[in-house]
Amino acid sequence: MMHCILEIEALGKTYKNVHALQDIQLSIAAGDIAAVIGKNGAGKTTLFKCVTEQVFPTSGTIRLYGKSDAAGIRRQRSKIGAMIEEPAFFPDFTARQNLEYFRQQRGIAGKEAVDRALKDVNLLDTGSKKFKDFSLGMKQRLGLALALMSHPALLILDEPTNGLDPEGKAEIRELLKTLNVEKKVTILISSHVLSELQSVATRYIFMDRGRIVEQLTAEELLNKTRKAVELVVDDSGRAATVLEQHFPDIPYRILPGNRIRLSGGTDRTEALNRTLYSCGVGVRSIAVTGEDLEEYYLGLLGGERHA
Ligand code: ATP
Repeated sequence: MMHCILEIEALGKTYKNVHALQDIQLSIAAGDIAAVIGKNGAGKTTLFKCVTEQVFPTSGTIRLYGKSDAAGIRRQRSKIGAMIEEPAFFPDFTARQNLEYFRQQRGIAGKEAVDRALKDVNLLDTGSKKFKDFSLGMKQRLGLALALMSHPALLILDEPTNGLDPEGKAEIRELLKTLNVEKKVTILISSHVLSELQSVATRYIFMDRGRIVEQLTAEELLNKTRKAVELVVDDSGRAATVLEQHFPDIPYRILPGNRIRLSGGTDRTEALNRTLYSCGVGVRSIAVTGEDLEEYYLGLLGGERHA
């Protein structure tokens, strides 16, 4: 069994009357790249801040490396590197000067920690370039270097690809894979766009309105999204009624252009065709496809999915 490094039980956080987190159950094993996916306001940042003790939960338990008492957790927290809000770097400092400042401020031993972290994020060669002249991607990577400087076993990153261009996003993904494989860093990362983390995550945690709505391994997500039937009909409303009556076990989503995507039923296309036709629905085409992952996610998080 994989070694569990973070376990969260029945975690809740309420701000006045906003339930930012409700009944969160989660466990992260060593070696995971766990992606928390949710729209703005889903509770991702609050969850990460609870783990790093930047906010205090209203209820529930957080266990780090098996420790849930305050003193034990505090000791284990040194194993976490986090990038939750943009670090306040000095605009006129270079990458190295900025990291050296934070190394001293945080009491991280050994000057070599700075160069090691810069090397990890491919920023060793930025020389005298000042932070204010960095691209957004470089700024994000410097934030990552700061989180890595204390040599963490668990890295917590809140939307590190936000605002980056496709090249910058790809760079961060590659970096995370390398850290995970070569340095054995476990990663907990969030995004509001599933596709941004699709190729790197080993697990997906879908959040909506403060709750976890589904957790899947990368393999489970792939399997789920492989099995779709796409129909083009003359009247998607009528087709939906027929599907609910005759195929209540197959979840579906209505898409624009009288298209309907069924998550399942790939072995029943003939029956689907026949039944729809006999109930007066014109079927223009029926095809087995892979479900679009982004659509799957939108369906989970408050789309028109029938489940
Ligand atoms: P985003 O991507 O926009 O940061 P998120 O998924 O990280 O979204 P959170 O920032 O955790 O979501 O917010 C969850 C909910 O808690 C939201 O409704 C938000 O308005 C509320 N919230 C967060 N911080 C506070 C606070 N300090 N005071 C009051 N409400 C808050």
